[in-house]
Amino acid sequence: MPELPEVEVTRRSLLPFLVGRPVARVKTTRPSYVFVTPPDRIRKALQGRTVQDIDRLGKYLLLRLDDGNSFVIHLGMTGQLFSAMATSPRLLSATARSSLPPEEQLRFKPDPHTHMVFSFDDEGPDVYFRDVRKFGKLFLLAQDEVHPRLERLGLDALEVTGEHLFASSRKRKTPIKALLLDQAVVAGVGNIYADEALFLSGVRPGRRAARITRAESKRLSDAIRQVLQRSIETGGSSISDYVAPDGQDGAYQDERHVYARKGEPCKRCGAAIVRRVVAQRSAHYCPQCQK
Ligand SMILES: [Zn+2]
Repeated sequence: MPELPEVEVTRRSLLPFLVGRPVARVKTTRPSYVFVTPPDRIRKALQGRTVQDIDRLGKYLLLRLDDGNSFVIHLGMTGQLFSAMATSPRLLSATARSSLPPEEQLRFKPDPHTHMVFSFDDEGPDVYFRDVRKFGKLFLLAQDEVHPRLERLGLDALEVTGEHLFASSRKRKTPIKALLLDQAVVAGVGNIYADEALFLSGVRPGRRAARITRAESKRLSDAIRQVLQRSIETGGSSISDYVAPDGQDGAYQDERHVYARKGEPCKRCGAAIVRRVVAQRSAHYCPQCQK
């Protein structure tokens, strides 16, 4: 699932493919729960418009249009935003791939999972939004509109502080891992980076949030910013469906200490990494390094 680094890498690499190119036409699939705004309204609102900039709020991307409105995209679990120039085996299912000759295995053609196709006046490459599991969200945001989905977001994870985590965790009976995943507290952290940040700060994911000390809150907030920044630098984690708009894979998965490393030795102490369910999500930690 794309988390803050993957969304930020998508934002940065999408800029040259979207900004300043007048939209000639938008094609969509039929109404479905991906479209928070009905697709016919989205098509009309985007046609003839130009994206002037792309902002990010937590895991949401906001395409700022030249009429003052915005078009908002959340990648959900399996959302992909990419240019028609992109080539990546991650864009095709294993079955589709095996049926193609080798020279065509990297090429992508819009399929039933491609919910939006942006075409441009300059006749350069189209931009696609594809989402196999359809947990992504697409909606229009009028100028000055306050949208409930955006309004409830907490502090952006790149700006999180120890004081914020400490204050937010008082009186919370939930495990610290659940608090980190709560987008109303910290926007942008998901399973991978929560596990990694907890490892770096020496805190077990199942610890009750209210028991986290001020010093641990500080270490944890530093670790969150550190893992996110490092992941952005390496292009994000390409673990399942995530692919950058230019088709490049990220490399952060190679730097993981605990996430999805159950049974493997801890890179610091050699103990076997443990996987446990915490707040209905899998959590990975080192039983020696984390208390
Ligand atoms: Zn260890």
